[in-house]
Amino acid sequence: MGKGFFKVPKAVNEPVKSYAPGSPEREAVLKAYKELWNTPVDAPLYIGSEEVRTGNTGEMHPPHDHKHCLGIYHNANKAEVEKAISVALEARKKWAALAWEERAAIFLKAADLIAGPYRAKMNAATMIAQSKTVHQAEIDSACELIDFLRFNVEFMANIYNDQPNSSEGVWNRVEYRPLEGFVYAVTPFNFTAISGNLPASAALMGNVVIWKPSTSQIFSANMIVEVFKKAGLPDGVINVLHGNAAMITDTLLASPHFAGIHFTGSTNVFQDIWKKIGNNIHNYRTYPKIVGETGGKDFILAHPSACPKQVATAITRGAFEYQGQKCSAASRVYLPKSKADETLAFVKEDVLSFKMGSPENFENFITAVIHEHSFDKLAKYIDQAKKDKDAEIFVGGGYDKSKGYFIEPTVIVTTNPHYTTMETELFGPVVTVYVYDDSKWEETLKLVDETSAYALTGAIFATCRYAIDEAVKALENAAGNFYVNDKPTGAVVGQQPFGGARASGTNDKAGSAQNLLRWVSPRLIKETFVPPVDYRYPFLG
Ligand code: NAD
Repeated sequence: MGKGFFKVPKAVNEPVKSYAPGSPEREAVLKAYKELWNTPVDAPLYIGSEEVRTGNTGEMHPPHDHKHCLGIYHNANKAEVEKAISVALEARKKWAALAWEERAAIFLKAADLIAGPYRAKMNAATMIAQSKTVHQAEIDSACELIDFLRFNVEFMANIYNDQPNSSEGVWNRVEYRPLEGFVYAVTPFNFTAISGNLPASAALMGNVVIWKPSTSQIFSANMIVEVFKKAGLPDGVINVLHGNAAMITDTLLASPHFAGIHFTGSTNVFQDIWKKIGNNIHNYRTYPKIVGETGGKDFILAHPSACPKQVATAITRGAFEYQGQKCSAASRVYLPKSKADETLAFVKEDVLSFKMGSPENFENFITAVIHEHSFDKLAKYIDQAKKDKDAEIFVGGGYDKSKGYFIEPTVIVTTNPHYTTMETELFGPVVTVYVYDDSKWEETLKLVDETSAYALTGAIFATCRYAIDEAVKALENAAGNFYVNDKPTGAVVGQQPFGGARASGTNDKAGSAQNLLRWVSPRLIKETFVPPVDYRYPFLG
């Protein structure tokens, strides 16, 4: 920055629109939905200024109507991946040298485009591609993405403002350099906001990025690229590749210019990538930054003092919204015997009131799961629970993939606290409940802490303050986002920075300054105004 200490606009959370009958946003999103549904997309690779169409294509289908084709995307070969590296490194020369306020303006403009002219289209694309209800799309592809873009600009300004003291005759300055090389962003299917944020946050800090979206989210990712381009993002700053994930990853990690990975997805994939980075470590010019937010087995624990209706509502929303496909979704629940029947009766009442089908019909609370692989996996666990003696399907248990990948919201009740669905991440609308003896509160805290390898989100419900205090302490390391008397989902940027430890990730808290700090390599510059001319210190005299 040359000519002023510029203040960035104060970030405030984007208000969530209601989409109530008769509202203009409802009309706009339904119109956009119809248009996108009927306009086939041809999603290219974006490498520098080029839209590359390799002809090696895949098709895109909405999960809730898998016979409908939304268009095609092009897969990269090794040559395109290598080209993306060289184009990104070339773009870095100008991008890394650009004044921060220019970078900020691009992403603030992108936020305003999504809040305004692109809002209906972004939400409709997410409803279609990822089978989200309009509310789930609004809180993701509109509000959360807008919040990431605006808050990150504020966090960046705060980081740049963090400067060391200077003593007499000396001026100390820290500049927050982008990483020396390129950043690889790998994004999951389940949040359009995460998809946009992982490449954008690294780019905002002056990095060039090669981004590989999930194959199941290319349709809405392609619209994010359109928004970034409209916002004025220069060519080559964020390059986009689709195709064989392992080949793309291996090629990028083999480059000595690989400087960091910004990953969100499953634990196994992240651990494999980490291993590969380790194997290549002697090739890199700089130690790569490794940031990964991964799986979860998120819990709700109710104390005997909890209110059953509140616990039931948290289960209903926390486990089933977006078909349980949030990394934060509640998937194991611990109920005290004295309150279990009442709580479960409320849950059943809720589940039986759900309507399931296309997100275009706003009466539906539940739509499809993302793809056939996920559907088959969930059906297998449900069938197993039907057979197992230590498990019972309390409600739900049906499934049908004839039109879309529909799994009924399912509650399994088990007598075995280590039953497979209490421990394994299923990533679907299936929640398992274990009923504990009221007298075993302390043992249950230990059980909750030790049952899963993950530690992403968790919630405790109680009215007894001693119980809350005990749980906060006993479960200190069981969740990176811990909720008291609230469902474990729905983190808001700038309010609940998100991420977990253990097998759930590096806990670099998306939507916080901590995350942005991973994308810089600070340089301290010490300048002495009048350098000494005699080596002798006074004590020598
Ligand atoms: P996924 O692991 O299947 O895919 C994530 C990304 O990794 C995709 O872009 C995919 O193409 C890529 N990938 C797959 N195989 C790869 C390989 N061998 N090498 C390199 N990249 C590869 O995950 P998903 O199904 O898209 O998303 C669901 C998972 O993401 C769940 O485990 C969920 O808990 C997790 N998630 C975590 C958070 C969080 O903040 N902790 C947020 C969202 C999702």
